[in-house]
Amino acid sequence: MARYRGSVCRLCRRENLKLFLKGDRCYSDKCAFDRRGYPPGQHGQRRHGKISDYGVQLREKQKVKRMYGLVEKQFHLFFERADRKKGITGTNLLVMLERRMDNVVYRMGFVNSRTQGRHFVRHNHFLVNGKKINLPSYLINTGDVIEVREKSRTIQAISDAMAAVVRRGVPQWLDLEKDKFKGTVKTLPVREDLTMPIQEQLVVELYSK
Ligand code: SF4
Repeated sequence: MARYRGSVCRLCRRENLKLFLKGDRCYSDKCAFDRRGYPPGQHGQRRHGKISDYGVQLREKQKVKRMYGLVEKQFHLFFERADRKKGITGTNLLVMLERRMDNVVYRMGFVNSRTQGRHFVRHNHFLVNGKKINLPSYLINTGDVIEVREKSRTIQAISDAMAAVVRRGVPQWLDLEKDKFKGTVKTLPVREDLTMPIQEQLVVELYSK
């Protein structure tokens, strides 16, 4: 399935939630969601009728999938892996998504968005425990040390993102040593660490049909 190449701000407006897909712009007064917080399209401002249970579940799944920048096939594979693990499937799913390398470099503040994270991971700008890892879907573990490669530390986009990290904050399960361009995974995230408004049970219900 092809990756979505249209305006990502439309996705926020469609999901009725700021998904923070555009880095700095999301915090500025140029944010399309803040300016036009209604669904995109010609009929976006019309009142819509009640949506079905299926529609609610579908929207929730789309929201999470878009938040983490995955296509349907990737997202479904993650769901299947989460379902095979012990514990609550929905929580497993969110924790696994949060452990993705492209998300972790974003959470640590090395990049401005998960999309940029995916791009920079693919281009070998990071080391995990001293080794080159260029798989955005790589799942980090407790104790892993992620650093920006020496030669990549002068990249303007990385400097800009690190300058802006204060505004976003680093989650408590991660530890950032900004001056060393390095971060450590103190512990794996738990559900309480994930503060985005997500009802993961709806995603489980959708895929369990
Ligand atoms: Fe979403 Fe960011 Fe665009 Fe605002 S600027 S609509 S938060 S992607």
